[in-house]
Amino acid sequence: MAKEDYYKLLGVDRNASDAEIKKSYRSKAMKFHPDRNKDNPVEAEAKFKQIKEAYEVLSDPKKRSAYDQFGHAGVDASMGGGRHGGFGGESFSDVFGDVFGDIFGGGRQQRSSVQRGSDLRYNLELTLEEAVFGTDTKIRVPVLVTCSECSGSGAKKGSSPVICSTCHGHGQVRMQQGFFSVQQTCPTCQGSGKQIKDPCGACRGQGRVQETKTLSAKIPAGVDTGDRIRLAGEGEAGINGGPAGDLYVQVQVKEHAIFTRDGENLYCEMPISFPTACLGGELEVPTLNGKVLLKIPAETQTGKLFRLRGKGVKPVRGGAVGDLLCRVQVETPVHLTKEQKALVEQLSESLSGGGKHHSPQESSWTDGVKNFFDKLTG
Ligand SMILES: [Zn+2]
Ligand SMILES: [Zn+2]
Repeated sequence: MAKEDYYKLLGVDRNASDAEIKKSYRSKAMKFHPDRNKDNPVEAEAKFKQIKEAYEVLSDPKKRSAYDQFGHAGVDASMGGGRHGGFGGESFSDVFGDVFGDIFGGGRQQRSSVQRGSDLRYNLELTLEEAVFGTDTKIRVPVLVTCSECSGSGAKKGSSPVICSTCHGHGQVRMQQGFFSVQQTCPTCQGSGKQIKDPCGACRGQGRVQETKTLSAKIPAGVDTGDRIRLAGEGEAGINGGPAGDLYVQVQVKEHAIFTRDGENLYCEMPISFPTACLGGELEVPTLNGKVLLKIPAETQTGKLFRLRGKGVKPVRGGAVGDLLCRVQVETPVHLTKEQKALVEQLSESLSGGGKHHSPQESSWTDGVKNFFDKLTG
């Protein structure tokens, strides 16, 4: 059966412009819409397919010129023979859905171009004292803020963005691939649906500019490494009037020369002299609130932990104040003079005589080793 002329089908003449062809196609497609042809659906469908095919050829400059030169034969070849007219796989409603969606954009979801700004993270290093007692600090963060020149529109002062001519404001376009159409983000406006003809000079049309903001952050007492403080709305500016993101201040506590921290407790190592360990005495112990005197009982062993209640950290999330735990380390005297060595020898002799145990750990250790070998030899 001889095919009808494409120009005739669309009701345009041979030198019709693209716009005329498109306009005519829309009105013809409307005319044969299934909703309007309820009493004659089969004929309407056939007619619609013909119109669609005609439009596909005439709206494509390459195919149109092939058609002008060689008629249907030219287009059949360029379309790859067998697939020509191949509506077989598509249902009628698919065809209509595609085309009418494209033309009217009705009911199709429009991608919102309003976006919330990104959240930002700022790593804040604190000393142990700052973390324990809290601090007011100033932080400088590079952020994208709304351009003041154009109030974020991206368009030059006095002008405003216009509806994107490619997607007519939908943000999405349908690309024809053979007889199928796929929806894609509009390449002209990147989905915003708007085009800026005259971009703002300050932000080069971006609507946002990079700025270094100085923020005051109140760090509460008791924070620790890994804690985050949220500064609402201090992140990046939103896009197209969207809300700003948040800024998260991530706390990292530096190592302290004396104290280590474990939750609400603080630990420190405390060297004591051999005579103090033997005879007892008082020792000045550092705490984060100043020095305190610690009583060292006589005959204190190395490794003994002294607990100073309430000298630790008040947890940021509430709860009891922690303790300071001081671990004693008995020091062996060094750089002994001849005389001192003689005195130590004298002490040693005295300790080994008299039949008393003066080395509690050594004797229990010796017992342990003895038991171990007894078990081995059965
Ligand atoms: Zn667009
Ligand atoms: Zn601007």
